[in-house]
Amino acid sequence: MRRMLAAAGALAAALAMAACGGGPAALPGAADVQAAPMPVGAKDPADVPTADAADTGCDARASLRPSGELPKPGSMPAGSTMATIAARGRLIAGVDQNSYRFGFRDPASGELTGFDVDVAREVARAIFGDPNKIQFRATNSAARIPSLQDGTVDIVVQTMTVNCARWKQVAFSTEYFTAGQRILVNKASGITDIDGLRGRKVCAAAGSTSIVNLAASPAKPSLVSVPDWTDCLVMLQQNQVAAVSTDDSILAGLAAQDPNTAVVGKRFSDEPYGIGVKLTSTDLVRFINGVLERMRADGTWNRLYDKWLTALGPASPPPAKYRD
Ligand code: GLU
Repeated sequence: MRRMLAAAGALAAALAMAACGGGPAALPGAADVQAAPMPVGAKDPADVPTADAADTGCDARASLRPSGELPKPGSMPAGSTMATIAARGRLIAGVDQNSYRFGFRDPASGELTGFDVDVAREVARAIFGDPNKIQFRATNSAARIPSLQDGTVDIVVQTMTVNCARWKQVAFSTEYFTAGQRILVNKASGITDIDGLRGRKVCAAAGSTSIVNLAASPAKPSLVSVPDWTDCLVMLQQNQVAAVSTDDSILAGLAAQDPNTAVVGKRFSDEPYGIGVKLTSTDLVRFINGVLERMRADGTWNRLYDKWLTALGPASPPPAKYRD
């Protein structure tokens, strides 16, 4: 079929040349070039949840204190959420498969890998003594909260910002990584910061804090949403948007995937990452905070950072903060 189309194209070109008296055929004008399709699920303009940014009535970083010593793997307290997970034989974790270095598919092995994936494995190790007793569900930004609420997953480890609006819907661990929002542009664009996006289209994932922060920014760009971060990269490559904007941690991964793009401008938000848990599973929150305490203290956090994130520069684990 493709070959037939090519043949038809060659014929058309030959006819055009004949019509012009043998001269070269005119190049198609912009109007003749078919517009590239938008990624499946793209929304232009994006829906913007209005209440989220205004909700500052809590200390979002403060989580629940671990209750004493961590129970040993294989001996979770009777009746606890951890005991239910242990009885099932595997932890179910929601992770990204589109965020290079955090949650992505290794093209060689086909396995989900990355910093967030390894953090989730540490929770499985603490319950079972085996980091492989885990089932991953590839989730996108908008599906994180619903999949915790309906029990599809036990935890979400997915570049997920802790904030007050979300604390009303799900619970979070202490902070395990700190990011901030910036923009990714085509190097040739000449755009150097968010002010250069006034009146331009910018892409972000639906259900992300990035959309809310952009809507609240003085530059007020036009917002386009997509299901996954890599969809935004495609839209940038097809010149359907002038920039992608989200956490610098995720943008660095996109920039590494396309050397024609660059992360520019200052950070304009604070994005502390927490592990998401069902709102009522406070025992699991305390347990995970115990696991994170241990990871900060025994060098596991640093080992995972060095394995995945050295491209982001030196860092140390964010300190734990508790409210009770
Ligand atoms: N950290 C932001 C959030 O949780 C953006 C990243 C994402 O959506 O994965 O919404």
